[in-house]
Amino acid sequence: MPAERVAEDVYVIRLGRGLMATNVYLVRTDESWVLIDTGWRRDADAVSDAAEALLGAGARPIAILLTHLHPDHSGAAPALARRWDLPVHVHPVELPQAEGKLLPRYANPLDRRILGPLLRLLPAKTRARLVAAGDLTGTAHGLDTITGPPGLPGWEAVPTPGHTPGHVAYLRRHDRVLITGDALLTVDLNAFGRRRLAGPPWYTTWHRSTAEDSIRTLAALQPEVVAPGHGEPLTSGAATRLQAGGGPARHTLTTWRVRFRVLPRLPGTADGIVTAADNRGSAFATTPTPSSEGIGVPSVRPEPSLRLPGSSRSAQTTAQARPRWRVLLPARAGRRVVR
Ligand SMILES: [Zn+2]
Repeated sequence: MPAERVAEDVYVIRLGRGLMATNVYLVRTDESWVLIDTGWRRDADAVSDAAEALLGAGARPIAILLTHLHPDHSGAAPALARRWDLPVHVHPVELPQAEGKLLPRYANPLDRRILGPLLRLLPAKTRARLVAAGDLTGTAHGLDTITGPPGLPGWEAVPTPGHTPGHVAYLRRHDRVLITGDALLTVDLNAFGRRRLAGPPWYTTWHRSTAEDSIRTLAALQPEVVAPGHGEPLTSGAATRLQAGGGPARHTLTTWRVRFRVLPRLPGTADGIVTAADNRGSAFATTPTPSSEGIGVPSVRPEPSLRLPGSSRSAQTTAQARPRWRVLLPARAGRRVVR
């Protein structure tokens, strides 16, 4: 898939089709290029082919920047970093995940309910192979959000936690081009792929109300162009669309309440159950605060009683409980978490 122009010096490579499609971006500054996000592990060839077609044979970007560490965005990063001999940069809060392991305090509902339990059912060797394939240890470096993203003068990394603890968007302030990763999408994956500005899918989102705060942060930047991780890039008038009808945060609140009425609760989920407060304590404690200067990063409100669904029992008790089916009511759970 050839790269397509989204804005001056910003090109999208669309990878895959339908609801699983991911966008990655090639951005030019002066004479060099940077790749923002990489797609799934299987996308490495498609990305390097598209990059070569745009940059010229033998040319390569000078850095890989990631919005966050999720396999549809960082999956091809190990292969591309090796191929091009490049560093990968991500917000420091994401770094503990660079090893490729599923860490409980970074887990989202899909990790806790499905992926974690399934991984535990795999033979240790297979699990180790999967982890090794996603391992960015030694390759991933923490972004310095004060000096700006490396290789991208004129751009800023905007912390937009919520989908993951260390999610960032990238902003070119002079013409308000915003590469949003999964903090803000133009396809609503909570509403069967409806095309509209929307928050990330709730089931892969680490902390919903923080994700909603980040949508407001991005709306306040009044972007002209929104270049999302999923969905069509919005090449003009994004700010107006963001204000219309209450904006995407409203969609997010509405739609997050109703999907997946019943999910199997699989055995061995105990490790994945942590409170959001625990998450905040461990992950946000290391967030460099100067990065928020002038950007309006959402502050994390103290909500001592706030707990994610299923977190009311201690991990130990849950570990001893027999596996069983459990009705999930996102409507109730969502409200408890969101407000
Ligand atoms: Zn994604």
